Amino acid sequence: SQDIEEIASLFTVTPTDSPTPDDERVAKLDSPKFGTVFSDHMARISWRRDDGWIHRRVEKYGPLQLDPATAVLHYGQEVFEGMKAYRHADGTVWTFRPEENAARLSRSAHRLALPALPVDDFIAACAVLVRTDIAWVPDAPDSSLYLRPFMFASEPFLGVRPADEVEFLVIASPSGAYFSGGVKPVSIWVDAEYHRAGPGGTGAAKCGGNYAASLLPQSEAATKGFDQVCFLDGGSNTYLEELGGMNVFLVMADGSVHTPELTGSILEGVTRSSILRLAADHGRDVVERRIPLTELVDGLRNGQVSEVFACGTAAVVTPVGRLAGETFDATVGTGEPGDLTMTIRRELTDIQYGRAADRHGWMRRL
Ligand code: PMP
Repeated sequence: SQDIEEIASLFTVTPTDSPTPDDERVAKLDSPKFGTVFSDHMARISWRRDDGWIHRRVEKYGPLQLDPATAVLHYGQEVFEGMKAYRHADGTVWTFRPEENAARLSRSAHRLALPALPVDDFIAACAVLVRTDIAWVPDAPDSSLYLRPFMFASEPFLGVRPADEVEFLVIASPSGAYFSGGVKPVSIWVDAEYHRAGPGGTGAAKCGGNYAASLLPQSEAATKGFDQVCFLDGGSNTYLEELGGMNVFLVMADGSVHTPELTGSILEGVTRSSILRLAADHGRDVVERRIPLTELVDGLRNGQVSEVFACGTAAVVTPVGRLAGETFDATVGTGEPGDLTMTIRRELTDIQYGRAADRHGWMRRL
Protein backbone atom coordinates (compact mmCIF):
# COMPACT_ATOMS: atom_id res chain seq x y z
CA SER A 1 0.00 0.00 0.00
CA GLN A 2 0.86 3.70 -0.18
CA ASP A 3 1.97 3.89 3.47
CA ILE A 4 4.28 0.93 3.21
CA GLU A 5 5.92 2.27 0.05
CA GLU A 6 6.43 5.61 1.80
CA ILE A 7 8.13 3.91 4.75
CA ALA A 8 10.08 1.63 2.38
CA SER A 9 11.52 4.75 0.70
CA LEU A 10 12.99 5.79 4.08
CA PHE A 11 15.32 2.77 4.08
CA THR A 12 18.93 3.35 3.06
CA VAL A 13 20.12 0.32 1.13
CA THR A 14 23.88 -0.26 1.25
CA PRO A 15 24.58 -3.32 -0.92
CA THR A 16 27.23 -5.75 0.27
CA ASP A 17 30.64 -5.44 -1.39
CA SER A 18 30.94 -9.24 -1.37
CA PRO A 19 27.66 -10.74 -2.64
CA THR A 20 27.45 -14.52 -2.79
CA PRO A 21 28.43 -15.59 -6.35
CA ASP A 22 25.45 -16.82 -8.42
CA ASP A 23 26.60 -20.43 -8.66
CA GLU A 24 27.23 -20.59 -4.91
CA ARG A 25 23.80 -19.13 -4.15
CA VAL A 26 22.09 -21.57 -6.50
CA ALA A 27 23.89 -24.45 -4.78
CA LYS A 28 22.85 -23.11 -1.35
CA LEU A 29 19.22 -22.77 -2.47
CA ASP A 30 19.20 -26.31 -3.76
CA SER A 31 18.62 -28.10 -0.45
CA PRO A 32 19.32 -25.74 2.41
CA LYS A 33 19.40 -27.20 5.90
CA PHE A 34 16.82 -25.09 7.73
CA GLY A 35 18.22 -22.07 9.51
CA THR A 36 21.83 -22.48 8.43
CA VAL A 37 22.00 -20.44 5.22
CA PHE A 38 21.30 -16.71 5.19
CA SER A 39 20.81 -14.20 2.39
CA ASP A 40 23.33 -11.44 1.66
CA HIS A 41 21.60 -8.61 3.55
CA MET A 42 19.65 -7.79 6.68
CA ALA A 43 17.17 -5.02 7.44
CA ARG A 44 17.65 -2.97 10.56
CA ILE A 45 15.99 -0.17 12.52
CA SER A 46 17.30 1.27 15.78
CA TRP A 47 15.30 2.66 18.65
CA ARG A 48 16.32 5.20 21.28
CA ARG A 49 13.95 6.10 24.08
CA ASP A 50 14.33 9.81 23.27
CA ASP A 51 14.17 9.51 19.47
CA GLY A 52 11.91 6.56 18.71
CA TRP A 53 12.63 4.42 15.62
CA ILE A 54 15.59 5.74 13.61
CA HIS A 55 18.11 4.72 10.91
CA ARG A 56 16.02 2.49 8.69
CA ARG A 57 18.50 0.56 6.60
CA VAL A 58 19.37 -2.59 4.71
CA GLU A 59 22.99 -3.60 5.01
CA LYS A 60 25.36 -6.53 4.53
CA TYR A 61 24.38 -9.59 6.58
CA GLY A 62 26.96 -10.14 9.26
CA PRO A 63 27.87 -10.46 12.94
CA LEU A 64 26.68 -7.86 15.44
CA GLN A 65 29.20 -6.36 17.75
CA LEU A 66 27.77 -6.41 21.27
CA ASP A 67 29.17 -5.05 24.50
CA PRO A 68 29.36 -7.91 27.05
CA ALA A 69 26.97 -5.91 29.24
CA THR A 70 24.30 -5.75 26.50
CA ALA A 71 21.01 -6.13 28.36
CA VAL A 72 19.54 -8.93 26.22
CA LEU A 73 22.43 -11.23 27.14
CA HIS A 74 21.56 -10.95 30.81
CA TYR A 75 17.82 -10.46 31.14
CA GLY A 76 16.53 -11.88 27.87
CA GLN A 77 14.54 -8.80 26.81
CA GLU A 78 13.86 -10.03 23.28
CA VAL A 79 10.96 -10.90 20.98
CA PHE A 80 10.78 -12.32 17.48
CA GLU A 81 8.61 -13.42 14.58
CA GLY A 82 8.65 -16.09 11.90
CA MET A 83 7.09 -15.81 8.46
CA LYS A 84 7.80 -16.78 4.87
CA ALA A 85 8.16 -15.22 1.43
CA TYR A 86 6.70 -17.49 -1.26
CA ARG A 87 7.59 -17.44 -4.95
CA HIS A 88 4.60 -17.92 -7.24
CA ALA A 89 4.72 -19.62 -10.65
CA ASP A 90 4.91 -16.23 -12.43
CA GLY A 91 8.04 -15.32 -10.43
CA THR A 92 6.37 -12.77 -8.12
CA VAL A 93 7.08 -12.98 -4.38
CA TRP A 94 4.41 -12.79 -1.68
CA THR A 95 3.98 -12.96 2.08
CA PHE A 96 1.05 -14.39 4.01
CA ARG A 97 -0.83 -12.07 6.42
CA PRO A 98 2.32 -10.12 7.43
CA GLU A 99 0.20 -7.56 9.28
CA GLU A 100 -0.73 -10.35 11.71
CA ASN A 101 2.93 -11.02 12.44
CA ALA A 102 3.54 -7.29 12.79
CA ALA A 103 0.68 -6.96 15.28
CA ARG A 104 1.85 -9.99 17.22
CA LEU A 105 5.40 -8.62 17.41
CA SER A 106 4.06 -5.47 18.99
CA ARG A 107 1.92 -7.45 21.45
CA SER A 108 4.97 -9.54 22.35
CA ALA A 109 7.07 -6.38 22.66
CA HIS A 110 4.51 -4.85 25.01
CA ARG A 111 4.73 -7.86 27.35
CA LEU A 112 8.54 -7.65 27.36
CA ALA A 113 8.52 -3.86 27.94
CA LEU A 114 10.00 -3.29 24.47
CA PRO A 115 8.75 -0.52 22.17
CA ALA A 116 5.95 -1.16 19.67
CA LEU A 117 7.10 -1.16 16.05
CA PRO A 118 4.48 0.27 13.66
CA VAL A 119 2.98 -2.34 11.30
CA ASP A 120 4.12 -0.35 8.26
CA ASP A 121 7.73 -0.32 9.48
CA PHE A 122 7.61 -4.07 10.05
CA ILE A 123 6.24 -4.83 6.59
CA ALA A 124 8.46 -2.25 4.87
CA ALA A 125 11.58 -3.74 6.51
CA CYS A 126 10.59 -7.20 5.26
CA ALA A 127 9.73 -5.84 1.81
CA VAL A 128 12.96 -3.89 1.31
CA LEU A 129 15.05 -6.86 2.48
CA VAL A 130 13.23 -9.34 0.24
CA ARG A 131 13.44 -6.98 -2.76
CA THR A 132 17.19 -6.57 -2.16
CA ASP A 133 17.68 -10.34 -1.82
CA ILE A 134 14.95 -11.39 -4.27
CA ALA A 135 17.32 -13.93 -5.87
CA TRP A 136 17.35 -15.75 -2.52
CA VAL A 137 13.67 -16.67 -2.73
CA PRO A 138 13.74 -20.29 -3.92
CA ASP A 139 11.28 -21.66 -6.47
CA ALA A 140 11.38 -25.40 -5.76
CA PRO A 141 8.05 -26.92 -4.61
CA ASP A 142 7.19 -26.10 -0.98
CA SER A 143 10.32 -23.97 -0.57
CA SER A 144 10.34 -20.39 0.66
CA LEU A 145 12.51 -17.63 2.06
CA TYR A 146 11.97 -17.79 5.83
CA LEU A 147 11.97 -14.34 7.41
CA ARG A 148 13.04 -13.83 11.00
CA PRO A 149 12.20 -10.36 12.33
CA PHE A 150 13.45 -9.82 15.90
CA MET A 151 13.89 -7.07 18.45
CA PHE A 152 16.24 -6.98 21.42
CA ALA A 153 17.55 -4.79 24.23
CA SER A 154 20.89 -3.55 22.86
CA GLU A 155 21.77 -1.11 25.63
CA PRO A 156 24.95 -1.98 27.53
CA PHE A 157 23.61 -1.78 31.05
CA LEU A 158 23.46 -4.17 33.99
CA GLY A 159 20.26 -3.37 35.75
CA VAL A 160 16.81 -4.86 35.71
CA ARG A 161 14.81 -2.22 33.89
CA PRO A 162 13.57 -1.80 30.30
CA ALA A 163 16.43 -0.88 27.98
CA ASP A 164 16.64 2.61 26.49
CA GLU A 165 18.28 1.26 23.32
CA VAL A 166 16.72 -1.42 21.17
CA GLU A 167 17.50 -2.91 17.75
CA PHE A 168 15.01 -4.42 15.31
CA LEU A 169 16.40 -6.63 12.55
CA VAL A 170 15.09 -8.91 9.83
CA ILE A 171 17.22 -11.75 8.52
CA ALA A 172 16.26 -14.22 5.80
CA SER A 173 17.00 -17.92 5.42
CA PRO A 174 16.03 -19.98 2.36
CA SER A 175 14.18 -23.11 3.38
CA GLY A 176 13.32 -26.23 1.45
CA ALA A 177 10.25 -28.43 1.82
CA TYR A 178 9.70 -29.21 5.52
CA PHE A 179 8.62 -32.77 4.73
CA SER A 180 11.04 -33.71 1.98
CA GLY A 181 9.84 -37.32 1.73
CA GLY A 182 6.12 -36.48 1.86
CA VAL A 183 4.04 -35.49 4.87
CA LYS A 184 4.69 -37.86 7.79
CA PRO A 185 2.69 -38.00 11.04
CA VAL A 186 4.63 -37.07 14.18
CA SER A 187 4.53 -38.58 17.65
CA ILE A 188 3.86 -36.34 20.64
CA TRP A 189 4.76 -36.63 24.30
CA VAL A 190 2.21 -34.83 26.48
CA ASP A 191 4.29 -33.37 29.27
CA ALA A 192 2.76 -33.18 32.74
CA GLU A 193 6.06 -32.37 34.43
CA TYR A 194 7.30 -29.21 32.71
CA HIS A 195 5.46 -26.15 31.47
CA ARG A 196 6.57 -23.63 28.88
CA ALA A 197 4.39 -20.89 30.34
CA GLY A 198 2.19 -20.11 33.29
CA PRO A 199 -0.76 -17.88 34.18
CA GLY A 200 0.29 -14.25 33.88
CA GLY A 201 3.60 -15.27 32.31
CA THR A 202 4.92 -14.73 28.79
CA GLY A 203 3.30 -17.69 26.99
CA ALA A 204 1.30 -15.48 24.63
CA ALA A 205 4.43 -13.55 23.65
CA LYS A 206 6.92 -14.83 21.11
CA CYS A 207 9.99 -14.28 23.28
CA GLY A 208 13.19 -16.29 23.37
CA GLY A 209 12.73 -17.30 27.00
CA ASN A 210 9.68 -19.42 26.18
CA TYR A 211 11.75 -21.43 23.75
CA ALA A 212 14.61 -21.77 26.22
CA ALA A 213 12.07 -23.21 28.67
CA SER A 214 10.94 -25.78 26.08
CA LEU A 215 14.38 -27.17 25.25
CA LEU A 216 14.85 -29.54 28.19
CA PRO A 217 11.34 -31.05 27.94
CA GLN A 218 11.86 -31.37 24.18
CA SER A 219 15.16 -33.22 24.57
CA GLU A 220 13.79 -35.50 27.30
CA ALA A 221 10.86 -36.38 25.02
CA ALA A 222 13.28 -37.02 22.15
CA THR A 223 15.20 -39.43 24.40
CA LYS A 224 11.92 -41.30 24.95
CA GLY A 225 11.52 -41.50 21.16
CA PHE A 226 8.99 -38.71 20.55
CA ASP A 227 9.17 -36.00 17.90
CA GLN A 228 7.47 -33.16 19.80
CA VAL A 229 6.14 -32.12 23.20
CA CYS A 230 2.61 -30.93 23.92
CA PHE A 231 2.40 -28.76 27.02
CA LEU A 232 -0.50 -28.59 29.47
CA ASP A 233 -1.66 -25.41 31.17
CA GLY A 234 0.63 -24.26 33.95
CA GLY A 235 -2.23 -23.41 36.29
CA SER A 236 -4.03 -26.75 36.67
CA ASN A 237 -1.94 -29.14 34.55
CA THR A 238 -5.24 -30.29 33.03
CA TYR A 239 -5.84 -28.65 29.66
CA LEU A 240 -3.97 -28.94 26.35
CA GLU A 241 -2.07 -25.81 25.44
CA GLU A 242 0.29 -26.16 22.49
CA LEU A 243 3.54 -27.65 21.24
CA GLY A 244 6.93 -25.98 21.63
CA GLY A 245 6.47 -24.21 18.29
CA MET A 246 3.02 -25.14 16.98
CA ASN A 247 -0.65 -24.88 17.93
CA VAL A 248 -2.79 -28.00 18.12
CA PHE A 249 -6.17 -29.01 16.67
CA LEU A 250 -8.56 -31.95 17.11
CA VAL A 251 -11.06 -33.10 14.49
CA MET A 252 -13.98 -34.89 16.13
CA ALA A 253 -15.97 -37.81 14.72
CA ASP A 254 -18.97 -35.46 14.36
CA GLY A 255 -16.88 -33.31 12.00
CA SER A 256 -16.35 -30.39 14.37
CA VAL A 257 -12.91 -28.84 14.71
CA HIS A 258 -11.58 -27.94 18.17
CA THR A 259 -8.51 -26.04 19.36
CA PRO A 260 -7.47 -24.76 22.79
CA GLU A 261 -8.85 -21.30 23.44
CA LEU A 262 -6.41 -18.43 23.90
CA THR A 263 -5.89 -18.27 27.63
CA GLY A 264 -3.00 -15.84 27.75
CA SER A 265 -0.38 -18.57 27.95
CA ILE A 266 -0.78 -19.84 24.36
CA LEU A 267 0.79 -18.19 21.32
CA GLU A 268 -1.86 -16.92 18.92
CA GLY A 269 -0.69 -18.59 15.71
CA VAL A 270 -1.35 -16.99 12.35
CA THR A 271 -1.76 -20.49 10.91
CA ARG A 272 -4.19 -21.34 13.73
CA SER A 273 -6.45 -18.39 12.98
CA SER A 274 -6.30 -19.11 9.22
CA ILE A 275 -7.28 -22.75 9.80
CA LEU A 276 -10.22 -21.72 11.98
CA ARG A 277 -11.37 -19.69 8.98
CA LEU A 278 -10.83 -22.44 6.40
CA ALA A 279 -12.59 -25.04 8.57
CA ALA A 280 -15.55 -22.68 8.96
CA ASP A 281 -15.57 -22.21 5.16
CA HIS A 282 -16.10 -25.99 4.95
CA GLY A 283 -19.20 -25.58 7.07
CA ARG A 284 -17.50 -27.21 10.03
CA ASP A 285 -18.35 -26.19 13.57
CA VAL A 286 -15.19 -24.60 14.93
CA VAL A 287 -14.80 -24.51 18.69
CA GLU A 288 -12.18 -22.69 20.74
CA ARG A 289 -12.37 -23.98 24.28
CA ARG A 290 -10.40 -25.52 27.12
CA ILE A 291 -9.72 -29.16 26.18
CA PRO A 292 -8.90 -31.50 29.09
CA LEU A 293 -6.19 -34.06 28.32
CA THR A 294 -8.46 -36.76 29.77
CA GLU A 295 -11.09 -35.93 27.14
CA LEU A 296 -8.52 -36.27 24.36
CA VAL A 297 -7.26 -39.62 25.67
CA ASP A 298 -10.82 -40.99 26.08
CA GLY A 299 -11.75 -39.63 22.65
CA LEU A 300 -8.80 -41.37 20.98
CA ARG A 301 -9.82 -44.63 22.64
CA ASN A 302 -13.57 -44.46 21.92
CA GLY A 303 -13.27 -42.94 18.46
CA GLN A 304 -14.75 -39.52 19.23
CA VAL A 305 -11.50 -37.85 18.22
CA SER A 306 -10.68 -38.81 14.65
CA GLU A 307 -7.78 -36.52 13.71
CA VAL A 308 -5.15 -34.51 15.56
CA PHE A 309 -2.80 -32.07 13.88
CA ALA A 310 -0.34 -29.36 14.80
CA CYS A 311 0.14 -26.15 12.83
CA GLY A 312 2.57 -23.30 12.40
CA THR A 313 4.37 -21.29 9.76
CA ALA A 314 7.32 -23.66 9.39
CA ALA A 315 5.56 -26.99 8.79
CA VAL A 316 2.10 -25.51 7.95
CA VAL A 317 0.01 -28.51 9.07
CA THR A 318 1.58 -31.58 10.65
CA PRO A 319 -0.53 -34.70 11.23
CA VAL A 320 -0.15 -36.28 14.68
CA GLY A 321 -0.11 -40.10 14.57
CA ARG A 322 0.54 -40.95 18.20
CA LEU A 323 0.09 -39.24 21.57
CA ALA A 324 1.50 -40.53 24.82
CA GLY A 325 2.13 -39.43 28.39
CA GLU A 326 2.98 -41.00 31.76
CA THR A 327 -0.34 -42.86 31.90
CA PHE A 328 -1.38 -43.47 28.28
CA ASP A 329 -0.17 -44.24 24.79
CA ALA A 330 -2.69 -43.82 22.00
CA THR A 331 -2.74 -43.97 18.21
CA VAL A 332 -4.69 -41.26 16.39
CA GLY A 333 -7.15 -42.98 14.02
CA THR A 334 -5.09 -45.41 11.99
CA GLY A 335 -1.92 -43.44 12.66
CA GLU A 336 -2.03 -42.09 9.08
CA PRO A 337 -2.73 -38.44 8.17
CA GLY A 338 -6.45 -37.59 8.44
CA ASP A 339 -8.55 -36.39 5.51
CA LEU A 340 -9.44 -32.96 6.87
CA THR A 341 -5.86 -32.48 8.06
CA MET A 342 -4.56 -33.02 4.54
CA THR A 343 -7.35 -31.00 2.90
CA ILE A 344 -6.66 -27.98 5.10
CA ARG A 345 -2.96 -28.35 4.52
CA ARG A 346 -3.45 -28.35 0.75
CA GLU A 347 -5.88 -25.43 0.79
CA LEU A 348 -3.55 -23.29 2.87
CA THR A 349 -0.44 -24.05 0.82
CA ASP A 350 -2.41 -23.53 -2.42
CA ILE A 351 -3.26 -20.01 -1.26
CA GLN A 352 0.29 -19.33 -0.07
CA TYR A 353 1.88 -20.50 -3.33
CA GLY A 354 -0.70 -18.77 -5.51
CA ARG A 355 -2.25 -21.98 -6.83
CA ALA A 356 -5.69 -21.07 -5.47
CA ALA A 357 -7.66 -17.83 -5.33
CA ASP A 358 -6.75 -15.67 -2.34
CA ARG A 359 -10.40 -15.42 -1.29
CA HIS A 360 -9.67 -13.93 2.12
CA GLY A 361 -7.16 -11.32 0.93
CA TRP A 362 -4.36 -12.90 2.94
CA MET A 363 -1.51 -12.50 0.47
CA ARG A 364 0.61 -9.38 0.10
CA ARG A 365 2.98 -8.92 -2.79
CA LEU A 366 6.43 -7.70 -1.79
N1 PMP B 1 2.99 -21.75 19.07
C1 PMP B 1 4.29 -21.48 19.26
C2 PMP B 1 4.85 -21.61 20.63
C3 PMP B 1 5.09 -21.05 18.17
O1 PMP B 1 6.38 -20.78 18.35
C4 PMP B 1 4.52 -20.94 16.90
C5 PMP B 1 5.36 -20.49 15.72
N2 PMP B 1 5.36 -19.08 15.60
C6 PMP B 1 3.16 -21.24 16.76
C7 PMP B 1 2.43 -21.64 17.86
C8 PMP B 1 2.48 -21.12 15.43
O2 PMP B 1 2.36 -19.76 15.06
P1 PMP B 1 2.28 -19.33 13.53
O3 PMP B 1 1.17 -20.09 12.94
O4 PMP B 1 2.03 -17.88 13.59
O5 PMP B 1 3.60 -19.68 12.93
